[in-house]
Amino acid sequence: MESGGEFEMVDEMVLTPVTKIDIRELAELRNERDVYLSVYLPTSSGEDRDENRTFVARRAKAMEEALSGDLKESFRETMEVVEDRLLWKPVPGERGRIVFASAPASLLQVYRIGVEPDRTMVLDTSSFLLPLAKLRDDYLDYGLLLLDSREARFFCVRSDVPEAVGRLSSDLMNKHKKGGWSQMRFNRLRKGAIKSFLSEVAEDLLESCTGQETRGLVVAGPGTAKSQLLEILPADMGKRVLGVVDLSIDATKRELLEAGNEIALADERERSEERAEELRSEILRGGLAVRGIEATKSALAEGRVSVLVLLKDASVPGWICERCEALEAKKRPPECPICGGPTSTVDVINELYELAERTDAEVEFVEEDPCLASGEGVGALLRY
Ligand SMILES: [Zn+2]
Repeated sequence: MESGGEFEMVDEMVLTPVTKIDIRELAELRNERDVYLSVYLPTSSGEDRDENRTFVARRAKAMEEALSGDLKESFRETMEVVEDRLLWKPVPGERGRIVFASAPASLLQVYRIGVEPDRTMVLDTSSFLLPLAKLRDDYLDYGLLLLDSREARFFCVRSDVPEAVGRLSSDLMNKHKKGGWSQMRFNRLRKGAIKSFLSEVAEDLLESCTGQETRGLVVAGPGTAKSQLLEILPADMGKRVLGVVDLSIDATKRELLEAGNEIALADERERSEERAEELRSEILRGGLAVRGIEATKSALAEGRVSVLVLLKDASVPGWICERCEALEAKKRPPECPICGGPTSTVDVINELYELAERTDAEVEFVEEDPCLASGEGVGALLRY
């Protein structure tokens, strides 16, 4: 096995939002043999990093021992390229690291992320994308607007990192000294100033939000400016407001995140539950839905799945044929009973997930659901 020429390398020394990683492209990469290494490591604390060192060494040794001949050689090459990159010290704000690598496929992607993954290291015939998919489901991007009647700050929260993207302030009120004006006149002017300030904010929001694939918008701040803004937002914009929360205008980034995340996560849960409910009712009335591994697999293979619904902690051991992609939730046979090709042990859920990615199906993870649980943790809403 030769390592082919130039490495396709992604290795940035800055945080990457999990939503920015091209999961679709990674899902396309497959090999008949175990050449794709995927590593997820938490990197927040010194303790984590010490543990990573031991973990990586132990897993690498076990993998090497399990491999034979040229695969052992190519694994060593892959490890040579990634080893340092796994253990380098974190960049500011980094809480986790994801590495996809394969010397034979000339692949090296290193991502420093702002959220914490579970420690995992896998060598397989394709990259192990399920943990990344779950992180993306939990940490979809959202917009956060912090405002009072004279100031507005707009953030884009990506993977738990708030990036300030805009700021508007109105110092109109300070310009008008009260002296010489009646209180009534002043109040009227002040109201007018707030109103025009808020419509400016609304306009700005429209500009910053359109085109961005955000989950929606959280509106935060003290007092009544929030609700005044909601009143003047155009309807389609209003629909994208996930929630409203009382917060000091001087809130720290941490406080903003906590308040925003709670609302965004609640919205995600609600959306998952809606999907699960939709699946349940379609199944009950014999509509466009399937449940269980076999039925879901066939529907995916036929390109009929619009939404793959997975129980978040579902995991089903099985095997795949690396030649004809036969997939079964059974003990691995030495060779494929259909085509005689090589087989490997897999998590069937991960394979279904990758199939969904490759066929442009949407994927929804559900926290818990009895209907799904009784169908091996898998179901799908169908296009036809
Ligand atoms: Zn086969």
